[in-house]
Amino acid sequence: MYTKRAILWFRLDLRLHDNEALQEALNSADEVIPVYVFDERIFWGRTHYFGFPKTAKFRAQFIIESVRELRQSLRELGSDLIVRVGKPEEEVFEIAKKARAHWVFCNRERTDEEVKVQDALEKNLWSIGQEMRYSRGKLLYYTADLPFPIQHTPDTFTQFRKEVERYVPVRSPLPTPEALPPITVALEPGVVPGLQNLGHEVFEPDPRATLSFRGGEREGLRRLHYYLWEGELIDDFKESRDGLIGGDYSTKLSPWLAQGCLSPKMAYYELRKYEEKYGKSKFAYELFYYLMLRDYYRFMAKKYCNQIFFKSGPQNIAGANWRNDRGLLQQWTEGRTGVPFIDANMREISQTGYMSSRGRQNVASFLINDLGVNWQMGAEYFESVLIDYDVASNWGNWNFIAGVGSGARDARYLNIISQAKTYDPKGEYVKLWLPELKGLPPEKIHQPDQLSFSEQEELHLRIGDDYPRAMVSTDKWRG
Ligand SMILES: Cc1cc2nc3c(=O)[nH]c(=O)nc-3n(C[C@H](O)[C@H](O)[C@H](O)COP(=O)(O)OP(=O)(O)OC[C@H]3O[C@@H](n4cnc5c(N)ncnc54)[C@H](O)[C@@H]3O)c2cc1C
Repeated sequence: MYTKRAILWFRLDLRLHDNEALQEALNSADEVIPVYVFDERIFWGRTHYFGFPKTAKFRAQFIIESVRELRQSLRELGSDLIVRVGKPEEEVFEIAKKARAHWVFCNRERTDEEVKVQDALEKNLWSIGQEMRYSRGKLLYYTADLPFPIQHTPDTFTQFRKEVERYVPVRSPLPTPEALPPITVALEPGVVPGLQNLGHEVFEPDPRATLSFRGGEREGLRRLHYYLWEGELIDDFKESRDGLIGGDYSTKLSPWLAQGCLSPKMAYYELRKYEEKYGKSKFAYELFYYLMLRDYYRFMAKKYCNQIFFKSGPQNIAGANWRNDRGLLQQWTEGRTGVPFIDANMREISQTGYMSSRGRQNVASFLINDLGVNWQMGAEYFESVLIDYDVASNWGNWNFIAGVGSGARDARYLNIISQAKTYDPKGEYVKLWLPELKGLPPEKIHQPDQLSFSEQEELHLRIGDDYPRAMVSTDKWRG
């Protein structure tokens, strides 16, 4: 019998639930061959402008775990995951050629590096009479359902949200298949690399981390279930979201959403179920609001393409005289600015790969506005270390804070001391990450640079030795 074969190329959609490419492959072909490629450029490469390692260990570990789990789930359904390390446009091509596939299905990516890879693969496939078939897998909303063409997407989030939530329903998530056709082509399954194979030392998670994030679809669904149903944490979401310590202050869904282990539509429909049971809630709406914000940044990336990466941003603002100062940047990345609220956040991200939303806004504002450093340096450092790095969310938020983003008029300036006092009034967060300051009373904890010599002696803390001198006097934010 003539068998129609498809390759299913997993990318940032490491799940079986609500996976459009998977469903379309199953609808079109008799046999589907799932493939994942550890792209050498993503794991060994460097960031575009400033050469940070492209994927630091936390995200690398998360991806490894996600791929392992995906393979296990596929095996349980009667299939497998073919794993390769190299360039997807070559590796997927070789598999497609050997399998004499008709098509390669994948969820389409929209940003430059990812598009180049899918275009290169598509060209290779054309050379042997095969085709790419693209699906959509990242968002709540479908471009085709929007009440405006992409080029007319409103530049402000408020406008975008109003137009979209009023007129566009979120489509239901697609089901997880109950069984999959076996792979009949003789293909080496390949080994999922370990962390050391990807150039990192194996590490122990920091016990202070907000959560021990574990990659994979099951973990993502479990976290969603925990947040809504077991912990009933959604009822506090609006108030707790600006928290800094522990696993429960916000959903922490971002790493699973970023790697596609969890579909945003699934999160939305669970929220709906929650509301059906407990009644409409402004807290559930709040989470929906942030999922829409995530969509908005993706649509902005689609509308403005590579401009989101340019210093002048989507607004094309030549303006500010930001410096590419590696010395200043290093003090910031190492958490040695002498401003405790900044340092605590920067040590958290470097030691865990995660930082709260409140923290991200503060460290970004500080780098851009108080140190005058080029915002792209900060964005690329985040690209490197974040466990939840998502190209559109990361660059979009940096655009916004730098004041070059769509809809942004001025740089978003935060008064770091007032923020620290509001969100960490007793200095507990600062003390968690800067144990050298644990002897300071709450009224001094955020401004150690203001301690007199006698106070330093009394507190057994020497500024300049035990804790860095402030790069920016905290007096700046007085009053
Ligand atoms: C400078 C900067 C860089 C950022 N980089 C990233 C990034 O690379 N990846 C990323 O997922 N988020 C990024 N964010 C947005 C936000 O900080 C994180 O999504 C959030 O802190 C993740 O924690 P959570 O899942 O508990 O979020 P929650 O507060 O529980 O929100 C739920 C979900 O909504 C989405 N969301 C929330 N806030 C935002 C936002 N401001 N922009 C876009 N989506 C949002 C996320 O998917 C998040 O998981 C960045 C924010 C800033 C200020």
